[in-house]
Amino acid sequence: MNPQDILREVFGYGAFRGPQEAIVNHVCGGGDALVLMPTGGGKSLCYQIPAIARQRAGHGITIVVSPLIALMHDQVGALHEAGVEAAFLNSSLSGEEANAVEQRLRRGDITLLYAAPERITTPRFLAQLDMLHEQGQLSLFAIDEAHCVSQWGHDFRPEYRALTVLHERYAGVPRMALTATADALTRADIVERLQLEDAQQFVSSFDRPNIRYTIVEKKDASTQLLRFIQREHTGPDWQDSGIVYCQSRKRVEEVAKNLCDAGIAALPYHAGLDGAIRQKHQNRFLREEGLVMVATVAFGMGIDKPDVRFVAHLDMPKNIEGYYQETGRGGRDGQAAHAWMAYGLNDVVNQRRMIDESPAGEDFKQVMRGKLDALLALAEATDCRRVRLLGYFGETYQSPENGAPRYTCGNCDNCLNPPDIWDGTEAARMLLSTIYRVKQQSGMSFGAGHMMDILRGKVTEKVTQYGHDKLSTFGIGAHFSEVQLRGVLRQLIAIGALGVDAQAFNTLYLTEASRGVLKGEVTVRLRASVSTPADRKAKRTA
Ligand code: ADP
Ligand code: ZN
Repeated sequence: MNPQDILREVFGYGAFRGPQEAIVNHVCGGGDALVLMPTGGGKSLCYQIPAIARQRAGHGITIVVSPLIALMHDQVGALHEAGVEAAFLNSSLSGEEANAVEQRLRRGDITLLYAAPERITTPRFLAQLDMLHEQGQLSLFAIDEAHCVSQWGHDFRPEYRALTVLHERYAGVPRMALTATADALTRADIVERLQLEDAQQFVSSFDRPNIRYTIVEKKDASTQLLRFIQREHTGPDWQDSGIVYCQSRKRVEEVAKNLCDAGIAALPYHAGLDGAIRQKHQNRFLREEGLVMVATVAFGMGIDKPDVRFVAHLDMPKNIEGYYQETGRGGRDGQAAHAWMAYGLNDVVNQRRMIDESPAGEDFKQVMRGKLDALLALAEATDCRRVRLLGYFGETYQSPENGAPRYTCGNCDNCLNPPDIWDGTEAARMLLSTIYRVKQQSGMSFGAGHMMDILRGKVTEKVTQYGHDKLSTFGIGAHFSEVQLRGVLRQLIAIGALGVDAQAFNTLYLTEASRGVLKGEVTVRLRASVSTPADRKAKRTA
């Protein structure tokens, strides 16, 4: 049976999607592959069809490495319904059940075996693979969620590292690795760790055209979220399904309660909840319509709910890969979905602090800071978010007709409502020189609030106490609003031209990169955040 027939007869689909056919043909022929395809792109068929085809051709069984028990259950269930012999081995099975699977394995009546990485590398399992290998019955290794092998990915799992045993021990057996997110660094790491240097790479477009990206400045995040949901995702007698990500368990509880109090059906989900309650909430979210799941990042991997209409971030993720992966859970059915994030100065400070305080080595921290900076740049961007997002994954946003590069998408906040831009260079220089002078004068460092007070000429107790009203920069920035100055601070921290000392009450200090701004070599372009479309209309007509 050729792949086309398997697609139609076993899975009931009329045609391959995008690069599926090329991938399937390559792997059926015994080639190694690295597959990068966005969530919902159809990665599963890329190994399931070769598994069926190769087994019918006498090559034996395909082993699928998957990190998630829930995912294995779903996939094996779906394969059974399609009449494909599949099974899984993971910690949810009793000893007896595992034995039964192993017996089927020996008899050769399994086409696909899903297994957790820690299971695969046990001596007992390896002995079974050895036996199959000797009989020429080891057809293919498919390593799903392959970014888990890299510490540069957003979900590093140390168990994945042990998978090197597969190419070392079974060198001749074809291998494919699949993932929905990997920037250049992570991609290179996957190739190295899994020895896929000679594998053909299949990189799909990462664009999710039905997802609208919006990033707003954080003021009162809970209220902003509520307005967003009320305005765009509820009607008189309906409510969309959505996911809201928060950083801490406490925030999750608060936000869920807040939404419920406002009449929006919401459930909390975080690792601190009892396992049974978590499971119940997850099941309800999957089965019922119109529920909002308020969760930490513990929720979502492997959740295949097609009609999630919005994914909101109340706190900023660690990097663009995390953001892309989490927002990618919206709109899997191809219908319009919304990725909405509220982001503020505190997010920047918190994320920097978490990196600074982590026990990791300096090299690692440097990479993490670089990744955070890329996300900050996306959040601060005044041009198309989609172009930036795809650019981060090494992709040029193109016209589907003629492949010409495109600079606007028409489906992100900046494209739909181009923000007013103001030149914050002068304000940035004033802020930096104030920080410099304060340090010179008092030998001390202070936080953002105090610096803004000095610049705006506010006579506070602290200002008088330290004689900061005597500084030459006192009051020279009185024409800037606090919102504007906050924007400047955020941007300066985002580009590394200002440091925040988390160990000392978040005081600000100058960095190597501050010099370029002070010397006027760097321009600071900011969105005029106070301006809304309505403001602009008023301005135009005035
Ligand atoms: P991924 O693992 O890349 O997130 P899946 O393999 O779960 O994506 O596929 C997403 C959805 O698309 C599934 O419902 C799947 O059945 C469907 N699908 C995949 N390939 C095709 C195809 N060629 N034709 C129609 N539907 C497809
Ligand atoms: Zn856009």
